[in-house]
This record gives sequence, structure tokens and C-alpha cells, in this order.
Amino acid sequence: MSTLVFVKEVINNERRCALLPANAKAYVKAGAQVVIESGIGSAVNIPDSDYQDAGAEVVVDRSELLARADFIMSVQPLGRVELEGTKQSVCCISFLDPFNNTEHIKWLKDSGRSALSIEMIPRSSRCQKMDALSSQASLAGYVMVAKAMAELPRVLPMMMTPAGTLKPAKVFVIGAGVAGLQAIATAKRLGASVIAYDTREVVAEQVKSLGAKFLAIDVGETGQNEQGYANALTEEQMQIQQQAQASCIADSDIVITTAQLFGRKPPVLISLDTVSKMKPGSVIVDMAAENGGNVEGSAAGQTIIVEGVTIIGTGNWPSAVALDASQMYANNLQALLLEFWDTEQQSAVLDLSDDILQTALITHQGELINPTIKALLSEDKN
Ligand code: NAD
Repeated sequence: MSTLVFVKEVINNERRCALLPANAKAYVKAGAQVVIESGIGSAVNIPDSDYQDAGAEVVVDRSELLARADFIMSVQPLGRVELEGTKQSVCCISFLDPFNNTEHIKWLKDSGRSALSIEMIPRSSRCQKMDALSSQASLAGYVMVAKAMAELPRVLPMMMTPAGTLKPAKVFVIGAGVAGLQAIATAKRLGASVIAYDTREVVAEQVKSLGAKFLAIDVGETGQNEQGYANALTEEQMQIQQQAQASCIADSDIVITTAQLFGRKPPVLISLDTVSKMKPGSVIVDMAAENGGNVEGSAAGQTIIVEGVTIIGTGNWPSAVALDASQMYANNLQALLLEFWDTEQQSAVLDLSDDILQTALITHQGELINPTIKALLSEDKN
């Protein structure tokens, strides 16, 4: 029987958790021993007793808890110091940011710990139920609109009242992936007039089906890779994009940037000069502010005012709706672990011939498994 350990998140601004009582029940039913750190659900108002009622054991001492784990499940990755006290055979499952966390990954490999990166689960039909990038990005899209709305000194819908007619607010969304599409849908539901742009032309139909307009910009050949991720634009293409979207930005009350390039720094798409052409009081939400930003001048973890424009870069957007985000994340984890569950062994069995594990596992039994990360780290060595 394997012991699944769920820890309380300790980093600032992280209110999500990796387990809800319903998931504890499902794991126990599958034959696992579920052990949680006391207070795991406190940020989402779920007391320890609810987890106990679902069959989980509650432990107060974090190092004692970690030492017992066969699997450690969390939202944020645990650091080296804590993992030094775990069994060498432990498998840690969490977001891992493997492209940037390379020193930690080297340690995981050298120490024999296994780590599964939620970001690297393939975006295939089989994996939809375990796709936490999508579940969390979708909530992020919603939250970014809510945050922008809270800062904007205007309402979003058109209002015809005896006191006068209010025009609908104009929202421009850059990047129409999972987060962008949810931001578009949310802003539309709130009555805003919405325009969106993405370098992947295939999303134009999806944007239009949400009732928004798609800004047509001819930047030449763009496209996407076999996983559906956007290819990076050339410097010249970026300039065409920036010029073509400048008047749309200047005319918008809210701009939401969600443009990302998987495994690479996000592109800078809005210059300070463009920000200065927006109406004072307008709002920009930079989804990527914590990773370098789509907007020149945005500040990681902060809301700032630049040239009279409020730029929100607070980050960790799903944590603002931590209860729903935790429910979705915990369900994603449950789907993942139970996909590999062996009823006889009462444990998840990591079968390296499985295509999900070939990409999602970063380290296992002293080896680097994901080919992209393996190549990245061997480049590092040379
Ligand atoms: P992402 O977070 O990597 O990027 C967000 C968006 O930014 C993308 O739509 C991308 O095209 C866009 N972008 C990049 N550079 C840009 C630029 N210069 N200007 C404007 N936009 C730019 O994307 P994501 O939301 O994680 O989705 C990635 C892909 O995975 C998409 O094709 C999506 O449909 C696909 N997906 C598939 C599944 C599945 O099949 N299970 C699930 C989720 C997502």
C-alpha cells in the first residue's frame, strides 16, 4: 500500500491546495493511505476534520510527514532541504517549472528522487482530465477580467438609463489560448465589446464563436508546433504586430495579455510608448509579468500605475479563486495518479513505456526522463 502525502503550501500568495476531501475519499477507496499536513485546507476554509472524515490521517510535523511519503503531491514544488529527509524512492508531483528550475532538477536526478512536472503532461485527448495547465489557465482568464474590472473606473456593459447612456467598455485580449479564450468569454458575458489577436490563425474561429472580433494582422508565416504551441515570431514580425495593434490598444479600456511561448520567455508585445497612448484610467493585465512580461514596465507581483495606466502583474491568478482552483487541480492530480493505479499493489506504478510518463516525468531513479529537459541539461553541461 503506498502512502500519498499532501502538504500545506508554504509560499506567499499560494492559497490553493492539492487535495479536497472528496479526492481523499477516492484515493482511500483505491487502497491508498492518505496523509495530510494539518491546515492543508485552511486557506480555502476546509478544516482537518473534513479530511479525517474522508479517511485521511492528519499529521502536524511536516518532516515526519515527508519521511513517510511514497508520493508527495503539492501545487508548488518542494525544495531540496525538505526533500533530503524523504525516501530516495519518493515521487514528487507538482508544478515544477522545469525550464527554469534546472539546478533543482539536477539535484533531483543526482539524489535519485523522482519528479513529475504537471506542466509537461501532454495536451492530448487522453490527458484532458489531468491537464492542470488548462484548468488553472482557464480560471486565470476569468480572474484577470475580474481584477481589471475592479480597477477600471467604468462599468463593462452598455447601460441605457434615464441618467444617460453608458457605452460598453472596450477590451482587447492578446493571446487566445486557454486563458485568453476564458478572458474573452468572461468579458463578453459582462457586456464588454471584445477584440482579440493571436499569432495562431486557427483560433480566429474560436474567438468569433465567443462573440468577439478577431484583429487581422498579416505578420506572414506563423503557425504552431505539433503540441499546438505557438512558434516564436521574428523581430520583424514582432514589430509588424506591435504597430498593427497599437491603435487598438490606445482605444481600449482594458488590455489583457496572455501571450506565451512554451518553455521560452514570453514575448514583449506592448512598449512603454504604446502604454503612454492609452487613456488615463485604462487598465492592462499582464499575465506573464512574473516571467518577464508581455508589457514593458509591468512589475512582477505588483499593481503599478504607469503614465496614468494601471498595470496589474500580481500573478498566481488561480490562487484568487483558490477553492475552485484547488478542486480542479486536485481532480487533475487524482485523474493522473489513478490512471497509473495498480489495484493489487495498491499503488501507482510508473511504467516508463507510457507516453504520458515519458514526457511528464522529469527525473526517475537517477535518470532524466523528459527528452526536452534532458537535452536542455546536457546543453547546460557543454
Ligand atoms: P500558451 O499559454 O502557450 O500561449 C497562450 C497563447 O499565446 C497561445 O494561444 C499562443 O498562440 C499565443 N501567442 C504566442 N505568441 C503570441 C504573440 N506574439 N501575439 C499574440 N499571441 C501570441 O497556450 P495554451 O493556452 O497553453 O495553449 C497551447 C495549445 O495547446 C493551444 O493550441 C491549445 O488549443 C492547446 N491545448 C490542447 C488541449 C488538448 O488537446 N487537450 C488542451 C489545452 C490546450
